Amino acid sequence: MLTEAQREQLKQVLDEEKRRLLRNAQDGLAFSMNRDRDTVGRDSIDESMEEELYSTELRLRDREKWLLGKVVGAMERLEAGTINECEDCGEGIGFKRLLARPVTTLCLDCKEAREKEEKSLAQAGAGRAEAGEGGAAGFGSGAAPGAGGDSGPGPGAGE
Ligand SMILES: [Zn+2]
Repeated sequence: MLTEAQREQLKQVLDEEKRRLLRNAQDGLAFSMNRDRDTVGRDSIDESMEEELYSTELRLRDREKWLLGKVVGAMERLEAGTINECEDCGEGIGFKRLLARPVTTLCLDCKEAREKEEKSLAQAGAGRAEAGEGGAAGFGSGAAPGAGGDSGPGPGAGE
């Protein structure tokens, strides 16, 4: 269990992170407004460039929204008193780790286990593909050639 002081500290970290994300979102808004004002009266920036800028900005906002969701989720878990419970094994997550990454839902062991699993899955996939190709090539050669080639009447025999 976390102490009252620890909970308070985490709340401050999360509040600060939330404020930062909201500020970023507002900066993004200001950026697009400035851009509109700048382009009034000159059409030197071509449309595809404009579109690309715009979609980059949208992607950034998507990421901020996603992060904001994680922060809000962590605040809810803090309220519910489950913020330091590992989602996978139910063990406690260390306060130091929570302070550094308050949005985490995994203890260090489970986090590392998941990363290892992802890595080994990627490697196994690549290995299977290679073995498959090698095996197929080896089988085809050797058995059949020669058997059909020399035998049989052949086109010239009737003459
Ligand atoms: Zn765990």
